Amino acid sequence: MNRPDTGELLRRLPQIDRLLQREDVCTLCARHSRALVLSECRSLFDSLRARALNGEVDAAELEEDRIVLALDARLEHRIQPYYRRVVNATGVVLHTGLGRAPLPPAVADVLVETLRHPVRVEVDLESGERGGRDEGAAKLLKELTGAEDATVVNNNAGATLLLISALAEGKEVLVSHGELVEIGGSFRVPDIMEQGGAQLCAVGTTNRTRAADYDEACHAKSAMILKVHTSNYRVVGFTEETTIEELCEIGRKHGVPVVHDMGSGCMVDLAARGMTGESYVRESISQGCGLVCFSGDKLLGGPQAGIIVGSTELVERCRKHPLYRALRPGRMTYIALEETLRIYLRGEEEAIARIPALQRVLATTEQLETRLARLVESISAIPGASATALSHDGYAGSGSLPARPIESRATQVTLSGWTAEDLARRLRTGDPAVLPTIHADSVIIDVRTISDDEVELIAARIAEIASGA
Ligand SMILES: *Cc1c(COP(=O)(O)O)cnc(C)c1O
Repeated sequence: MNRPDTGELLRRLPQIDRLLQREDVCTLCARHSRALVLSECRSLFDSLRARALNGEVDAAELEEDRIVLALDARLEHRIQPYYRRVVNATGVVLHTGLGRAPLPPAVADVLVETLRHPVRVEVDLESGERGGRDEGAAKLLKELTGAEDATVVNNNAGATLLLISALAEGKEVLVSHGELVEIGGSFRVPDIMEQGGAQLCAVGTTNRTRAADYDEACHAKSAMILKVHTSNYRVVGFTEETTIEELCEIGRKHGVPVVHDMGSGCMVDLAARGMTGESYVRESISQGCGLVCFSGDKLLGGPQAGIIVGSTELVERCRKHPLYRALRPGRMTYIALEETLRIYLRGEEEAIARIPALQRVLATTEQLETRLARLVESISAIPGASATALSHDGYAGSGSLPARPIESRATQVTLSGWTAEDLARRLRTGDPAVLPTIHADSVIIDVRTISDDEVELIAARIAEIASGA
């Protein structure tokens, strides 16, 4: 570009006052407030001036109509919520970066409707007196898991910290060497133990821990045998793990409760549906665990929550601990959790049909192929776009069904004139955002983690990008 006279260019910038009198800018002011339009206008002018000094601006960009368009785009961008809808095209069902389990539509409806009003959280409506905060959730959890009592905190990391603090402060917790895991972020079993004021007693070895190892390690200072689901890795080869039943037997012998941190609170029998690697909450309770804890937003498919179920005495100790108050959830969690649990009361088939997380994990190849065919057809009809079908590894995610890919279906998308990086970026930053993966310089859209309704949405986004809009 021929370096223009910068001073001459900058003189073409319209007066802000005059700009604000334009009818289309008045419309923007009505939509966004005059103060916001003014502040965005100033920062637009600042950036134009800075770019003009570098010789990066041409005269056309300084025309009023172009400036109003740029202003409009900036304002739209500014009001976009940070927490917003994303079409999950990654194939990872419980994607922590995407808030894990999407809520069942019926649960979201109840949540929206209820939240407009004051909500009974801890008032006994019979007597008008103060009632138990977690009673509503506890009632359903007891019914569904067979446990004597239950309580809820903000997440499962909180649940683990709470139960260690309540049961083992100043004492020892027995954990297998193979279960001293880090579960993403900074949640490490040994650290939680330290935070809870308990001493860790590592039992056995990384690959083999036998019942006898626990039996020998139990002594007067032992407060708990903790079994941790090794969510995000698997030890293969020469391995031996003590079963919950064996642990409970040893626990009974020494008068020490067994606590199972299940990670994903699976309430349907996935093993019967060909997915192994997750145990069943009800089973751990019936085998004699004193407490079981799990997340609300993993395979349960509900809101973020840490659920603790178990014996009356141990749950009550958790509830009475000062940390319980610090970790207690808000009304949104209780409402969404209660509604999610109600779906389970209707039976496993209903749960699978109505809970998106389960639907997605259990989607059949036939369902995936039908969805994929529609997506490939829609994308192929867009000028300049091509879509090829392929097999792809999906995952349950968030440490559920650990380290086992779930065979999925995907399409590899190309758009002429676009690199994979640029196309993926445009998909991520538009509305709704679409999050694909990139593999070998291509954009990959996995159909396991999208809904049937999202097929056309994705195609529409690609069409919009192809049209240069
Ligand atoms: C995921 C997980 C946690 C942490 O649960 P959050 O709900 O994310 O706090 C704890 N323990 C295990 C075994 C897990 O898989």
